[in-house]
Amino acid sequence: MARYTGPVCRLCRREGQKLYLKGDKCYTDKCPVSKRNFPPGQHGQSRKKVTEYGLQLREKQKVRRFYGIQESQMRKYFVMADRMQGITGENLLKILELRLDNIVYRLGFASSRAEARQLVTHGHFTVNGNKVSIPSSVLKVGDVVEVKNRSKNSPKFKELVENHRGNAVRWLDVSPEELKGRIVAEPAREDIDIPIEEHLIVELYSK
Ligand code: SF4
Repeated sequence: MARYTGPVCRLCRREGQKLYLKGDKCYTDKCPVSKRNFPPGQHGQSRKKVTEYGLQLREKQKVRRFYGIQESQMRKYFVMADRMQGITGENLLKILELRLDNIVYRLGFASSRAEARQLVTHGHFTVNGNKVSIPSSVLKVGDVVEVKNRSKNSPKFKELVENHRGNAVRWLDVSPEELKGRIVAEPAREDIDIPIEEHLIVELYSK
């Protein structure tokens, strides 16, 4: 399935909540969800009865859009999560959080996951000293993510050092001056700020 390239704010409006897909704009009052919090399109404001399947589907789509992943990849992650010990839904979110593009975003080195994905694809990052340009790489505790030395001198990353928000999450240790971060623990469910009922996704994929 092709990647969605249309207006991303529609995706948030469809899900009825902010998915933070547009970087800084998401934190301003220009965010369309703040102004028009109903689904886009001609019938966006009409009331419809939501079935159980519809609920499950919406939760799954929300997660896919939040992390910017495709259906086939989501299914693969579900299979991985199902084989792991513990609660499948939480395992699924954990895998998504440990993707390289998400970690670059969480470290504050990109303003959105989409930008993080692009920066990774363009080869600006190393993992444990080796160049990695695959945004879907799933990392593990102890891995060190760093901006490549040559890229550190680019205006983009110089500006980032000056304006870094320093808002890394508890399970990541970030050093903005060195443009470097380390995974110090696995993300726990309470560390994952997406308002989602992951059990609905498990129910959907278990059918
Ligand atoms: Fe979603 Fe951000 Fe657009 Fe708001 S500004 S609708 S949070 S992508």
